[in-house]
Amino acid sequence: QQIKYVFDNSPFYRKKFLDIGIDVDEIKSLDDIKKLPFTTKDELREAYPLGLSSADEEKIVRIHSSSGTTGTPVIIPYTQKDVDDWKEMMKRCYILAGLTKKDRIQITPGYGLWTAGIGFQLGAEYLGMMVIPMGPGNTEKQIQMMIDMQSTAIVATSSYGLYLAEEIRKRNLKEKINLKVGIFGSERWGDKQRKMIEEYLSIETFDIYGLTEVYGPGIAMDCKYHDGLHYFDDYLYFEIINPETGQEVNDGEYGELVITTLKKEGAPLIRYRTRDITRKIIGRCQCGSPYPRIDRIVGRTDDMVKVKGVNIFPAQVDSLIKDIDGAFCEYQIIIERVDSKEKVTLRLEIHDNMDSETLKNIIRHEFKNRIGLSPDVELLKIGELPRSEKKTKRIFDMREG
Ligand code: ZN
Repeated sequence: QQIKYVFDNSPFYRKKFLDIGIDVDEIKSLDDIKKLPFTTKDELREAYPLGLSSADEEKIVRIHSSSGTTGTPVIIPYTQKDVDDWKEMMKRCYILAGLTKKDRIQITPGYGLWTAGIGFQLGAEYLGMMVIPMGPGNTEKQIQMMIDMQSTAIVATSSYGLYLAEEIRKRNLKEKINLKVGIFGSERWGDKQRKMIEEYLSIETFDIYGLTEVYGPGIAMDCKYHDGLHYFDDYLYFEIINPETGQEVNDGEYGELVITTLKKEGAPLIRYRTRDITRKIIGRCQCGSPYPRIDRIVGRTDDMVKVKGVNIFPAQVDSLIKDIDGAFCEYQIIIERVDSKEKVTLRLEIHDNMDSETLKNIIRHEFKNRIGLSPDVELLKIGELPRSEKKTKRIFDMREG
């Protein structure tokens, strides 16, 4: 139905399919989806401003837009049905986190063109929670409202979550707050960072996934077993492909997540390449949910950097740091070319009481063991690396070209 819908209603897809001679009547099963071409972010950019629109003007009720920090933004139009479907998925996410209409949720991501704030609000109201719509920044006020309103749940990016947690710990306010649940998304975050936020705030944390091109946040969510994210396969079809060959990987292997919307009207997407790296988790979850699972996002196809012939993913570094006693979760990796040789430096925050030479040796050894090369290690005090309210960049490739 979705394929027929886009062929009849989307000038973007109609042209794309006709150009390569796709007969939509031949697409009858999920397996046939493999015959369809991928859709890339660059194509969505080229359709700026409203080239993706697949519904009559009077049915479009709003647009959202991706941040556009790396070029022309992508504009996604929504019909009322799209908004309602998104709201339903977001509500399911909150239920997976154990939230009910008795909860009070503080929403710290931005409102506006970005999908985050408004998406979290939509689902929260639909479930019947009391929303405290803070938006980003203004940490003083965030903490004040958290205390005065006795917020029981918070939504944030993981880096802002960590920042808030550190502030609350510094000021000894843990006893005054009433948080139980933290929902963090929009960037890959390590177990160590998660544990720290949980400890500092005495909360249970949940990972949420989504992207502006496909509704927004709320299309996949952690449950209380924290063994992958449930995604809503009545709205979305997920494939995992090898980003180099475009072929589907074997069940359970890591690859790039490709999403096909099944019910979207405003801007349906067919085989959209998210550039997010994950894998399918096979089998039913202990929580009993009928929704299948993907693993947490371990990186982006474009975060993958190749140094001295070795592929490095931020997720590998996260998991390495998690296992090093004395290491804090914040780090940066700097890749440079010095005298025509490639050099990798790991800048890592550590707890004060560590013997730095021993620690450096352990880290170099582990890095070589697991990732395949030996970095220079620079140790920093906690708080020395920049924290951000948006996405934290951790790998800096300074090589020219
Ligand atoms: Zn589950």
